[in-house]
Amino acid sequence: MPINRNFQQLSENYFFSAINRRASQFAEAHPDQRLIRLSIGDVTQPLCPCVVAALEKAAQEMGKVDTFRGYGPEQGYPFLREAIAGYYKKWNISLETEEIFISDGAKSDLGNILDLFSEGTSVLIPDPVYPVYVDASIMGGKKILFLDASEENSFLPLPPAFHADVIFLCSPNNPTGAVYSKDGLQAWVDYALAEKAVLLFDGAYEAFITDPSLPHSIFEVDGAKKCAIEFCSFSKKAGFTGTRCGYTVIPKELEIDGLSLNHLWLRRQTTKFNGVPYIVQRGAEAVFTPQGEQETTKAIAYYQENARIIRQGLDQLSISYTGGENAPYIWMRCPGRMDSEQYFKFLLEHCTVVGSPGIGFGKNGKYFFRLTAFGDREDVKEAIKRIINCMSL
Ligand code: PLP
Repeated sequence: MPINRNFQQLSENYFFSAINRRASQFAEAHPDQRLIRLSIGDVTQPLCPCVVAALEKAAQEMGKVDTFRGYGPEQGYPFLREAIAGYYKKWNISLETEEIFISDGAKSDLGNILDLFSEGTSVLIPDPVYPVYVDASIMGGKKILFLDASEENSFLPLPPAFHADVIFLCSPNNPTGAVYSKDGLQAWVDYALAEKAVLLFDGAYEAFITDPSLPHSIFEVDGAKKCAIEFCSFSKKAGFTGTRCGYTVIPKELEIDGLSLNHLWLRRQTTKFNGVPYIVQRGAEAVFTPQGEQETTKAIAYYQENARIIRQGLDQLSISYTGGENAPYIWMRCPGRMDSEQYFKFLLEHCTVVGSPGIGFGKNGKYFFRLTAFGDREDVKEAIKRIINCMSL
């Protein structure tokens, strides 16, 4: 039976499930100690009121014969694609609606985009990394090349001296919270144009950027429309992790060997994807209204304040870290000589706090640890208090 043997190359146990299991076992064995998770990659603030109102209105429309909608366009309704094109104007980026594809989230598209590239394509992936890029590349039989992200390059590696066909970049980064400057992204665009490579730019955390000098989109960089695809999400921007919506931008100018990747993706999506529910797309559209922008900014500000509290605690302990300013992730060096799994155990047993060991994101994460700002405010304060107390002993 010609099964896809690439699946056998995937690691058997998903690292973070094992970590969560260990934390839950500890909580069960110590019911008197309240476990606080600073490992959550999921949002905790609810959908904002104007999104809920739009979802309700759209649900009512679906219950009336005059306004009911069946199958929608696989690539998304024009109203949402136009709203997204309007959003990009903030950064002086002009997009045609046909360049924007609505999806059920960035994860699906980041994995599925590899359908456009044949087996054996070389895929360059920074380490540490959001594990989906690696697993999806393995499933698709791609040749993975890793690029070291470390303290030496501030976790923002620049292009290597060798060739790669496809490159995954994530900025603001999960797990390191590092964000590329415009010059950094320009170096990648120049590399991709010279190598005839394609950049897969993951902007899932774009909404967390507060520094006005930092780019929100790869298309702020000259030449990017000829070599880059951008993946974005409403998950962290507007609390859609359970509602599901994202979008991918493939410029019409992006051609490889005379083939338009925009056309190939349209062909792929119309065959293999059914589109995002009308109701959800109306909810997503509301995010771009003035009220939606105001309400989602408030929710993001809540997480940003959590991040500030975490950073302040680490500063007090003189622990070095990146992130947490323009990203919801704080990537800290494990104190003492502990590696990330030892530090996980230490925090769990001494502070009843859970974080994510860096090794789960790649070999370069061995001595690092990821804390997230997505928790409840009081939990964040309590967790930092506990960490300060037990590390100051
Ligand atoms: N990209 C990165 C870097 C992420 O961390 C995540 C989710 O955690 C995603 C993409 C997935 O986003 P979505 O919920 O839109 O699938």
